[in-house]
Amino acid sequence: MTSRAPRLLTVLLAVMLAALSGYAVVANWQQAELVRDVAAAGTDTDAYQKAAFELTTEMSMLQGAMLERDGEERNQLLGANQRAGDAMTRMAAIDQDHHEAAADLAQRHRALHMVVVGFLGQIDHGDDSAAMVTLEEVIEPEYTAMMSDLLNEQNHHLADYEQQQADSLRDSRGSVVTVLVVFVLGLIVLAGFGFSRRAHRRQVEAMAATDRLTGLHNRAAFVEHAARALPDNPTVLVINVDGFRDVNEQLGHRIGDLLLVEAGRRLASLVRGDDVVARLGGDEFAVLLTDRDPRIGETIAVRLTEAFETSFVLDEVTVDLEVSVGAATAAAGEDVITVLRHADAAMHEAKQQRAGFHRFQGEDRQDAAARLSLLGELRRALDDPDQLTLHYQPKIAVGSGELVGVEALARWHHPARGPISPAEFIPVLEVTNLMHRFTEQVLTMALRQARAWLDAGHRVPIAVNVSARSLLDPQFPGRVAALLAESGVPGDLLSVEVTEYALMSDPDTAIAALHHLAEAGVKASIDDYGTGYSSMTYLKVLPIAELKIDRSFVLDLADSASSRALVASTVELGHRLGLTVVAEGVEDEAAVQALREIGCDTAQGYHFAKPLPADALTARLEQALQTT
Ligand code: C2E
Ligand code: MG
Ligand code: MG
Repeated sequence: MTSRAPRLLTVLLAVMLAALSGYAVVANWQQAELVRDVAAAGTDTDAYQKAAFELTTEMSMLQGAMLERDGEERNQLLGANQRAGDAMTRMAAIDQDHHEAAADLAQRHRALHMVVVGFLGQIDHGDDSAAMVTLEEVIEPEYTAMMSDLLNEQNHHLADYEQQQADSLRDSRGSVVTVLVVFVLGLIVLAGFGFSRRAHRRQVEAMAATDRLTGLHNRAAFVEHAARALPDNPTVLVINVDGFRDVNEQLGHRIGDLLLVEAGRRLASLVRGDDVVARLGGDEFAVLLTDRDPRIGETIAVRLTEAFETSFVLDEVTVDLEVSVGAATAAAGEDVITVLRHADAAMHEAKQQRAGFHRFQGEDRQDAAARLSLLGELRRALDDPDQLTLHYQPKIAVGSGELVGVEALARWHHPARGPISPAEFIPVLEVTNLMHRFTEQVLTMALRQARAWLDAGHRVPIAVNVSARSLLDPQFPGRVAALLAESGVPGDLLSVEVTEYALMSDPDTAIAALHHLAEAGVKASIDDYGTGYSSMTYLKVLPIAELKIDRSFVLDLADSASSRALVASTVELGHRLGLTVVAEGVEDEAAVQALREIGCDTAQGYHFAKPLPADALTARLEQALQTT
């Protein structure tokens, strides 16, 4: 159903309801009108009957008046004449439909009254024969005529009355039927409306759970399915298409998209109906295997690898690709994100070893135990300012040699074990929600330092590393804005460094978060650029300001032609996209020289300074101020 259908139905429903209530009002009004008519007709009929009765009484008394001449009889006659006259006047007043005929009768009766008075006079004068003539030739014929007209009128009137009653009955039946029909129609439209809303909602839900390109489940839907399956210890496969990035960049996005669609189709055809296949983002797919035997992972992985041995023919272009598959089986107490992380780590292992498949297990699990104790210690460290601190490493403008900012790097000094490298504890944090507290702590410390430097007259932009988990946390941008407001540090003094992995694992959410941060003035950099697999397509749409080329490309810059070519092309690409480019890991003057030739904007590395405690950096800032 199109999205216009519910709108149309809403309008239809509204029109019908309006028609129904309008009709009910009109029908009611007509009905009341009819009842009033019928009641009035009833009253009219009574008036006719009364008039006929009084006229007959008057007539018989007139005849009696001839025989008995006493005053009592005469009074009764006059009384009867009066009542008959009144009855006729009333009849004329009530009967609107036959008003003229009734009024005429009343008029004739009033005229006759004069004749009756004359007739009584004749009797009083003893002129009986004249009185007899008056009675027989004038009064009696007129009475008879009036009586006959009166009965006629009454008959007409009765016929009308019966007709009206019949009409009223028919109309009221008709209106009951019409109201019923309109009501049932209204119910049908209402039901249709409810149905279409439900269909629409189902459609929206399905859309929200579907990857638009491949029609497979998306990451959110996958996580939901996996969470439901967790009690059965499912196995999760993460599948990455090797070399997809090259296809996308060299053959274009159209072919890239076709490839993803076809890859998704092949994956879906290899698993059972109740296994869930999803595209996690980019060229990463996942399969949730509901089979309780963890060895099913290997079986499916072999099948997947074989399925990719057949070439892809896309728009007459033939492409050969392989996949790397990582498997992880959920252990008791693990959440979905952890299992996915494990499968992802296994996939990266498979890719690195060019093995095709790797399972997360054994020694990885021992690691997991060690990680667990590390986590407990980290939790305590988060509350201890002596354990967790920040060091700051200068970012230097290649042209002028000036300090253009610093990168905040976390330092953990364990009370017993001494310093523990971020490379060791960040990945442990990354798979738990403790990461949120850690990031918040780092941001708080960094902004406090920025504030202190501002108060001392140094405007030092600070970059903070933000992990995927934190960036993708819906609360994150709001927390950053709140911390900025609390510290009073302008948003443009803060930037976040995120890795390609964080951006690519859920690009939509990541992009939304970066836009949100940009509203607060906070810029973003892609860290370790070149080690992940962000495509050019994304680079163009990502709201970022800076690329940081990974130090693995910078270390041998002076000696390796390929590294130099890579760095040069990245710098050029960055500049075309309006980005600042930073080289990480600059350890000697030769590298600085090469960067100068290439035109790289900024450099960072031991050659300029190691990450320094805040005091040491403050001293540097003061020194720089004095020399200028
Ligand atoms: P990174 O963000 O790429 O940080 C640069 C790393 O390179 C730092 O390592 C830094 O000490 C090191 N480095 C700088 N110059 C040179 C050089 O000339 N030669 C060599 N060999 N290394 C250099 P560090 O401090 O051990 O941090 C490692 C990684 O841990 C960081 O990589 C970052 O990804 C992560 N990390 C550090 N602090 C945080 C943090 O507060 N939050 C998050 N999420 N991650 C952090
Ligand atoms: Mg960094
Ligand atoms: Mg880096």
